[in-house]
Amino acid sequence: MPRYDFEMFTIGAGSGGVASSRRAGGYGARVAICEDSRVGGTCVIRGCVPKKLLVYGAQFADAFADSAGFGWTVPTPSFDWPALIEAKDREIERLSQIYRTMLKNSGVELIEGRGVVVDPHTVEINGRAYTAEKILIASGSHPTVPDIPGIEHVISSNEALDLPVLPRRIVIVGGGYIAVEFAGIFNGFGSEVVEMIRRDELLYGFDDDIRVALGQEMRGRGIEIHARTQVARIEKRAHGYSVFTTIGHEFSADVVMYATGRKPNTNGLGLAEVGVETNDNGAVVVDEWSCSNIPSIYAVGDVTDRINLTPVAIAEGRAVAETLFNDNPIKMDHANVPSAVFSQPPVGAVGLNEEQARRQYGEVDIYLARFKAMKNTLSGREERTLMKLVVDARSDRVLGCHMLGPDAPEIMQGLAIAVKCGASKRMFDQTVGIHPSAAEEFVTMREKLVRPAKLAAD
Ligand code: NDP
Repeated sequence: MPRYDFEMFTIGAGSGGVASSRRAGGYGARVAICEDSRVGGTCVIRGCVPKKLLVYGAQFADAFADSAGFGWTVPTPSFDWPALIEAKDREIERLSQIYRTMLKNSGVELIEGRGVVVDPHTVEINGRAYTAEKILIASGSHPTVPDIPGIEHVISSNEALDLPVLPRRIVIVGGGYIAVEFAGIFNGFGSEVVEMIRRDELLYGFDDDIRVALGQEMRGRGIEIHARTQVARIEKRAHGYSVFTTIGHEFSADVVMYATGRKPNTNGLGLAEVGVETNDNGAVVVDEWSCSNIPSIYAVGDVTDRINLTPVAIAEGRAVAETLFNDNPIKMDHANVPSAVFSQPPVGAVGLNEEQARRQYGEVDIYLARFKAMKNTLSGREERTLMKLVVDARSDRVLGCHMLGPDAPEIMQGLAIAVKCGASKRMFDQTVGIHPSAAEEFVTMREKLVRPAKLAAD
């Protein structure tokens, strides 16, 4: 008779929890996973996947507009938002079912309901206790909003993916991943978009040249970006809402969306009662093995607030399963994780930005290209692609690659392998380009960027 009902009990059937449970189940471990919402988690149900489907939808606006330069005559296109939302919902339901099937095929028992940890080896769901040798917390995160008057009127990305009608005018607050992605989506579908950010530029943490160029391109597409702007209050009107800034400006909108960050889902999980350490942001504190201060309790993904990206959660989850159930100890390597922002145009990046590299390595060489992609010669689109390499001047190692422009996320995946392998700039130069492509610019940049004296001295 086994000592515990399960060898691993996972709380949360999102990307990290499902990946870890399936891998553990694949090694023959007895695994259960609980979920109080739909199987698939944020990424599949209300994040990356539905967002990307809407991004694809929004990009047709460019294709219609650009086609004229290539000889096409397209009758004025019309767009049906409810039809897209319905199609998107069908696809999300299909994927959620696939996730259920994959769990079943890996021998993982799915228990529907909210799990609460009641001791280091017990999870309670709907009044029933399940014991497990290990507990894996993979409960994800949720959007947070600041506490200002009228905040009850705003929506988050959760609701933005399911709006019954396309807003004629939307105010989006925030300058991070989600805000810029949704600004591009609504702009593509023809909504008037006002984005309010509290800093000078969008996408804090990304390379400054990319941040500035993205702001220029988004403004060029008609998105109104208000920098150094904070919202004081929001009031409901007969039709829509008024957003008042701290300096008294008023903006009206049909919908006000906040994308001001996410917080780990640790409330009500019983963690404090059991003694699991969490940080000021509510994230489970874990070591390099994703183990909490309680040796039987592990945590992966957004709930640990390390790098909050789906593929990172998946890799962390698989590392836990390998370590615990395959005698193959793996620590997740959080260095050089590539990421992309599906803005219009999109951003892709891997490694250090220029500022980080200067701080860590002192002397760095910068290679930068900004050009009009070939397609834009005939389309007449003014948009310009930006590519940038950050190189350690001493070792010649490429420390960071950054791109703003069509296909940046697709291009960055391959470059991430080179950066992960420690490729030098010389190796980039020795690589033959693919012509004609935008990507070839990454292997043909010869001239170091010479910054104006003041910038270089900084
Ligand atoms: P981010 O942390 O990326 O951005 C939050 C934004 O909100 C920042 O611009 C921040 O400003 C601003 N902000 C925070 N608090 C306030 C406030 N009180 N008033 C005004 N502005 C405020 O969070 P997101 O919500 O955009 O996304 C959450 C996470 O989800 C991301 O960090 C990312 O890890 C993940 N994600 C990844 C995607 C991808 O890989 N493509 C897509 C979507 C999400 P400031 O810079 O000044 O702090």
